[in-house]
Amino acid sequence: LTFNDLGLSEALLRAVAETGYQHPTPIQAQAIPLVLAGGDLLAAAQTGTGKTAGFTLPLLQRLGTHASRQAGRPRALVLTPTRELAAQVEESVRIYGKYLPHRSMVMFGGVGFNPQASQLRKPVDILVATPGRLLDHVSQKTLDLSGVEILVLDEADRMLDMGFIHDIRKVLALLPARRQNLLFSATFSDEIKALADRLLDNPGLVEV
Ligand code: AMP
Repeated sequence: LTFNDLGLSEALLRAVAETGYQHPTPIQAQAIPLVLAGGDLLAAAQTGTGKTAGFTLPLLQRLGTHASRQAGRPRALVLTPTRELAAQVEESVRIYGKYLPHRSMVMFGGVGFNPQASQLRKPVDILVATPGRLLDHVSQKTLDLSGVEILVLDEADRMLDMGFIHDIRKVLALLPARRQNLLFSATFSDEIKALADRLLDNPGLVEV
């Protein structure tokens, strides 16, 4: 199996080829076609499995070939538990999206609010964020989540362990009802299962 068999566009295949990856990992082989088809996804995957490319590649394709022209109103939102993971995911979005016009932005707490606010005065397609700072921007009206078409919860189990469930619920309430949802978690506690039940509509299941 090669990346060419998964339904990815030329622009994405070119970017993948430049990374030097020869073959998709098992999670990529399973998740990419499911996400491209537009369905929700529940994926059991640890770090190191290639999960990041497994959702960033099809997410970029789902956004089409046009960039947003609306300031501070992302079309895709990726929530992560930590700033390190947020930065890593956004770096992947930049690498795989280098031949696409989409703009991405990373946002987390512990650094200045205003530089993020000024970035949000420009159009953004893909926002990668930790939950707390994201909600700060919503309450300051520097960020509008009403245009989110695709939501990714990355390392959802770690987000719950870190006490982000209330923040996640608040974020979910701000999103449009019609959207695609992807949930990645290494473990499946009852709490994760409850979140998945509430969030996902007839999800495709991927386990690696
Ligand atoms: P992740 O699980 O997303 O954190 O990715 C783990 C590592 O695997 C990262 O350093 C990626 O650059 C690398 N990687 C992702 N996909 C592939 C692939 N298809 N072939 C080889 N390496 C990959």
